[in-house]
Order: sequence, then C-alpha cells, then structure tokens
Amino acid sequence: MADLDGGIRFIKGIGEKKAKDLSKLGINTLRDLLGYFPRDYEDRTSVKRIARVEEGERVCILASVVTAPSLARIRRGLDIVKFRVSDGSGSATVTFFNQSWLKDRFKPGEDYYFYGKFTRSGAYLNLPSPEYEKFGAEGSETGAIVPIYRLTSGVSNKFLLSAIRQGLDAAPDPFPEVIPESVRRAFDLPHAGWSYREIHRPTDMDSVASARRRFVFEELFVLATTFGTIKHREREYSGYVIPPKKVDEFRLPFALTGAQRRAAAELMEDMGSGRVMTRLLQGDVGSGKTAVAAICVWAVCSEGLQSAFMAPTEILAEQHFRTLSDMLGPYGIRTVLLTGSMKAAERRAALAAIATGEADLVVGTHAIISDNVDFKSLALVITDEQHRFGVRQRTALSEKGDKPHVLVMSATPIPRTLALIIYGDLDVSILNEIPSGRQKVDTFVVGEDMRERINRFIRKQVEEGHQVFIVCPMIEEDETQNAASVKQYAEELRSEVFPDLRVDLLHGKMKAAEKEAVMARFAGGESDILVSTTVVEVGVDVPNATLMVIENAEHFGLSQLHQLRGRVGRGKAKSYCVLFNQGGAEAEERLDVLKNTNDGFKISSEDLRLRGPGDFFGSRQHGLPEMRLADLRGDMETLSAAQKQAELVLRDDPELALPEHSELRRRVRALQSVSLS
Ligand code: ADP
Ligand code: MG
Repeated sequence: MADLDGGIRFIKGIGEKKAKDLSKLGINTLRDLLGYFPRDYEDRTSVKRIARVEEGERVCILASVVTAPSLARIRRGLDIVKFRVSDGSGSATVTFFNQSWLKDRFKPGEDYYFYGKFTRSGAYLNLPSPEYEKFGAEGSETGAIVPIYRLTSGVSNKFLLSAIRQGLDAAPDPFPEVIPESVRRAFDLPHAGWSYREIHRPTDMDSVASARRRFVFEELFVLATTFGTIKHREREYSGYVIPPKKVDEFRLPFALTGAQRRAAAELMEDMGSGRVMTRLLQGDVGSGKTAVAAICVWAVCSEGLQSAFMAPTEILAEQHFRTLSDMLGPYGIRTVLLTGSMKAAERRAALAAIATGEADLVVGTHAIISDNVDFKSLALVITDEQHRFGVRQRTALSEKGDKPHVLVMSATPIPRTLALIIYGDLDVSILNEIPSGRQKVDTFVVGEDMRERINRFIRKQVEEGHQVFIVCPMIEEDETQNAASVKQYAEELRSEVFPDLRVDLLHGKMKAAEKEAVMARFAGGESDILVSTTVVEVGVDVPNATLMVIENAEHFGLSQLHQLRGRVGRGKAKSYCVLFNQGGAEAEERLDVLKNTNDGFKISSEDLRLRGPGDFFGSRQHGLPEMRLADLRGDMETLSAAQKQAELVLRDDPELALPEHSELRRRVRALQSVSLS
C-alpha cells in the first residue's frame, strides 16, 4: 500500500524523465495522479462490423491485417504507413502518419482491435491514425469504456491509463474519506474508493456519472468548509465607534462623484454604528476606490486610532503609499510604508512607529501581517484587490487589531453566491460611476500590417510629452508559444525602433527594488516607454500615460485586457489602447467587445459567455482555487447544499478535530495554504 502523498516513482514506467513530464500536468504524488480525472470517455464496449460502419463514425472494429504494411514518403517530413484490414464483412485501409516504425509492427494474419473515426474516399473506407490493440492482449482496453486524459508531450493516454491503473491498485484500502458518512448518505454519494475506481476504470457510464457527482460535491464541500473556517466578523460585536465626518470637508484635487460620496457616507455610517464594519467596495477600474478609502482613514486616524492598507504587490503598495501620504498628510496623518524588500534599518524604524502609534496609517504588502508587526490601536483594515491574497492572509490582518473595521476593495464583479463564500456575510457598496472628465479610451484591434503606423503613433505620443505602456504576455522567449518576449522586445525597441527614446523594462521576475525603481522612473516621467508583462495590470496609476499597446492580445482574457486598458485614460489627455491580434478572426471577434464597450461589468459577462466559466473562474479572477470538475456557475445548487453541510460540520466540530474529520481537516489545511497572489 502506497502513501497517497508520496511520490509515484514506484509505478512501473515512471522514471526521472516521466516524473518530470507528469509534473507538467501537476502530477507529483499518488494523490495527484488519482485526482487527474479524465476529460472524456470513449465507448469501446461494442465492436462493429465493418460493413455497417458509416462515414464519419467513431467506432471500434475487430479485424485481421490482410496486406503487409507499405511505407511511402509523400514529401519531406511526411511518411505514411498503410495496410488493409478485413473482418469478413468488409475491409478498410488503415493509415499512420510519420510513424514509420509501425511498418514492422503489423503482420498479415494478425487480429487487432482498431478504434477511430472512419472516412471514405470513393468506394473505400479509410481509418486514419486509429488507436489499436492486439486481440487477446493482456490488460486490453477494448470492450471497455476508455478514459481520455488531457496530455502533454512525453505523456500518452496509454501511459496514463497504465500508470493510473497501478496507482489505483496501490492506493490505501479503504480509501480515506473526506465527506462525512452522514452527508454521503443524505446526498446519496458513493464512497471515495469506489468513485476513484469508477471514474478511471468505469463499469458503465452510469457509474461515471455517480462518481463525477460525488467529486463535484466533494470539491465544493471542501471549498465551502475551507472558507467556513475563516472566522467572519460577528455582526453583533461592538466595534470602535468612529464619529462620522462630513465627506465634503475632506479636501481633494477633484470633486467626488455621486457614487464615491454615497459609498463614503455608507462607510462612515457603518463605522459610527457601534458595530464592526464588514464591507466590500466594488467598483470598476478607475472608479476611484482609493479616495473613498482615504476618507475612511481620515475619519479613523482623526480619532487617534490606526489604519492599515494592504495591497497585493510592492508596486501597488508603493503607489498607494505616495497617493495616500499626499492626500492625508495635510491632516497631520503620518503614513509609513512596509514591504518585504525594505532595508533592515528602514523596516525597524517603520515597525517602531507602528508599535508606538507614531504611525497612523501603514501601507504595505502582506509584509504587514508578518509576526513581528504590532499595532498600538488598529481600528481599520483595508485590503485592495483582496482576491489576490491567499485564504489565510485575508483574516490575518484583522487579527492584528481588536475587532477592527474591515473594508475590502475589488474591481472584479462577483456573483452574490460566490461573494458569500469568499468574503462571508458582508455589506456591499458599489461605485457605478466613473469620474467625469475621464475620456473614453479609444480602442483599436489591429494586425501586423499596422505595425509601422502604430510605431509612428507611439513616437507621436511621446513627442507630445506623453508616455506609453507596451505589454507582452511572456517574460522569456518561449519556443512553444508564438508570443512576444518582453526582454527581447524591449531590446529591439531600444536599439532599432526607438533608439532616441527612453525605453524601460518591467517584469515579474525582477527584484522588488528594481521593479520599484523602474516604476518610479516611469511615474516620474523619466522614461517614455515602459515595456512590461502584466505586472502593471492592477491599479498602477500614471496619469501622463496615454497609450497602451498590448502584444498578442489574443492570449489574454477580456477582463484582464480591460484592467490593462484602465492604466491609461487617467489624466486629462485623450488616451488610446491598441490591441495587436495574432489570433485570427475568432480572436478578433472577442477583442471587438473591448472596442465597443468600456463597462467592466458588461465585459466580464461577455468573457464568461465566450470563454466559459472554467477560464473565467481561474484562480486569478476571484481568488478561488481551480476546480477540477465543479463548475462554479453551473453547480450553484450543489454549492449551496455543500455550503450548508459545511456549516453543520463546522458548527459541531469547528476545529475539525474529530477523527472522522481528519481527512477533511487535511484537505482544508492544504487549501488554506494555497497562496493565490
Ligand atoms: P480604482 O477604483 O481603479 O482603484 P483609483 O482610486 O486608482 O481607481 O482612481 C483612479 C484615478 O482617478 C486616480 O488618478 C484618481 O486620482 C482619480 N480620481 C478618483 N476620483 C476622482 C474624481 N471624483 N474625479 C476625478 N478624478 C478622480
Ligand atoms: Mg485601485
């Protein structure tokens, strides 16, 4: 019996190389292997007579090889192995491409099962590139329902079938069960062990359905339990009472929008109510969430209490630090920055200021939640783009204070059911208005033929004193994807295209201090063009930037492109977004959505429609872990049921300490430690 969390090298056929290949599929342990569910099934339970096969049909036949295979070279790089097979009722021509070694595999007189899609040319039936298996072979898949797995180079379906079969044989018996017995019975869900066997080696399609139903429930149940363990604020708790201030007395370089004013008033009312505030401030890119947050900080710090503001990246923390210091400085509010990359002396000074209460506001990355940060009187915690933080990080900040008020800010619209899981029961304020005077960013979808014109346009923007972002999807040149590389591209721009302009480079693999320096140069107008990966995606604010050029735009989701586009059009000058499309007509249709609307909510629902929930609910978007089988949109009913059961389990056993919850506890722990940023 093998350890589920141990390696898989004990499996026949898995050596160092194969282990690496499997790792590309996320398979490192026996548990991963067994949890690698088929994407589809092929039904080979019935064998068809060739005479009855129809063109275009995908079926299994049992036939004898009747001619010796011939090998023909059609042209350079294209070999064909060809032979005829017959089952007495009819015959067909089997062909294989670029697998010349198969010429010696098949001998006349031998019987094989062939499985594939038949085509017809004139009177002849053809069977190109079928799956095959010698009749009577050991471990035969024919006559069975065969799982089809997602593959990668070096890993074939045959190989996975054999590896998983061995894995199933070696798995502990009984298989550790995550779903409590009573819940399983109530929802009529099969046991884990049976389900793993049936999903990989099905008896029939009905048992596949049962197994899948179980795993969907399991995924959602573990998810709901994980989020359920986060101690959401007790609404009845008494919190700091912050006397409301008049929103209009807060001086800003601009007039607040109606939505900002409403939201700020709601927040003030919450904080003055005597209960602890738990509120989500949701507003599209550029709707001005930061100013609303600043007003809250102003109210709290005016009472001599402290606030903390946590951002997902150093670049953003830096930027918020500058903005908030500027806004709040005039009120005597002292702001300090705290990030992971600060020098020891700076850090010590910041920590001391936080502990003595000399610092009123701390802006930083998740460095704020590390153990040695002690607040004197933390009364308000604000998290920006909270979905980018891991599950644990989300509550850790609140725990730094004594029931502080909580404000989370997000630009991503989230269905209510999901918001409940992610954030718990919270109130929502929405900024549904973009500050006036903000111009629509004109958006163009272009092809390579426009390259020179766009380069001239870039130069023109710079000559007019503006700045330009160029975003590429990759860091290094990647041979397998035809995507532009930032490094190489920046070099090319520097030396060939814009040798007279100041071109800077920013990507996620750079050291934090380097990144900061680059961002500071760009924000300070010391560089003209910033070539970057998507690290500029969230929140970066450089009002003088008027042009966003995105290479290989087809690689990005619409919501992500919308976020990127939101980096321009922040100042007074007319701004533009150019999307280079290398993805053909289909991609163009998708990208046109951006051309036609600026509404983030509309864009994300289009994204959902066009790409499907699998992509949309990727971990980046909502901070939820990737689901293997469950569809967070389609399986809402199951989600509600799972959530209810999770609540019941946690009510009786909040620490999941009971022996019957040990497997659940393990899974919840694993999920909690997934950091999603
Ligand atoms: P987001 O909601 O995306 O976080 P920000 O808070 O970064 O948006 O604000 C985007 C830009 O709009 C900033 O440059 C900010 O100064 C500016 N801004 C915010 N509110 C207003 C307003 N009411 N009028 C004009 N500009 C505003
Ligand atoms: Mg923001």
